[in-house]
Amino acid sequence: MDLELLSRTLDELGEPSYRNQQVWAWLARGAHAYVEMSDLPKPLQAVLEQRLPLSTLTLEQEVRARDGTAKALLRTTDGHPVEAVSMRYRDGRRSLCLSSQSGCPLACTFCATGRMRFARNLSRDEILDQALHFRRQEPADHAVFMGMGEPMMNLDAVLGACELLPALGITNRRTAISTVGWIPGIERLTASGVPVRLALSLHAPEDALRSALMEVNERYPLAEVLDACRAHNAATRRRVFVEYVMLAGINDRYEQALALARLLSPREAFKVNLIPYNPTDSLYHGSSRDAIAAFRGALESQGVRVTVRLTRGRDIAAACGQLAAAA
Ligand code: SAH
Repeated sequence: MDLELLSRTLDELGEPSYRNQQVWAWLARGAHAYVEMSDLPKPLQAVLEQRLPLSTLTLEQEVRARDGTAKALLRTTDGHPVEAVSMRYRDGRRSLCLSSQSGCPLACTFCATGRMRFARNLSRDEILDQALHFRRQEPADHAVFMGMGEPMMNLDAVLGACELLPALGITNRRTAISTVGWIPGIERLTASGVPVRLALSLHAPEDALRSALMEVNERYPLAEVLDACRAHNAATRRRVFVEYVMLAGINDRYEQALALARLLSPREAFKVNLIPYNPTDSLYHGSSRDAIAAFRGALESQGVRVTVRLTRGRDIAAACGQLAAAA
């Protein structure tokens, strides 16, 4: 919902300002249409139905994976593709994976989104409309900004969405923003005091390899990025999650695990998530289960907290790094 336009439209219709709140409350609870908004006068429901689309995004396609993951391909009014994913876990959690941009201006070599055309930043309302799309199907309690785009390059809109997500049942503490290590964004997030989780896509324990995988490392090298993460941890007292996608023969050797452990001090400031690589049409192969287990063991032997990420939605190309709408 374009919330500015809603407010302007209600104004023009001479409606009291509390109508904004009424409409928003219905949307946040998953309303599919104005007719459901029973505290609005019938004639107003009808006018809004005619004048104001319920969403800034239109649904073009939705696919469901065997594991209950759903991927939606949505489109902005100016024609840009946006993908969003809803994941269901066995413990009942439902987590939304939201996009902050259509496409991505960065070109990490292993990620499918980086190979599509970058269109533009999404607005706050376009981000929220991804969540509202899934809210109309069922409630969710977690969100991660791990869809298309680099959230730290569009932080105002992302934080604007974070302000409103709690109305849908997704608190800031259950929201994570993932970054390639865009330092100005990390610093602004820290200064904002918004209690969302910071996640860093690290992927390599030294600069040369990291730069080869992620060009952005040339601009913001490892040591400086990790300093920004330590400052975030010091200010918020929350662990920074380190994402590490496991690439066979590239970043999964024993010595690399030890090098990673050396970087992550103090230990309490970080937690590592090892991510099984999801195939894209890149040159990489994912590390085997055994290699991931050995890497995990090496990190744990150094006192590093580590989990292996569950992969959801691989059969519909909805998993990490597979979001690339045919634009
Ligand atoms: N630009 C931000 C937000 C996107 S998050 C960031 O990079 O953090 C998407 C996550 O999926 C990142 O950790 C990214 O490195 C990871 N990823 C990218 N391609 C992947 C792939 N093919 N398999 C598994 N994870 C991948």
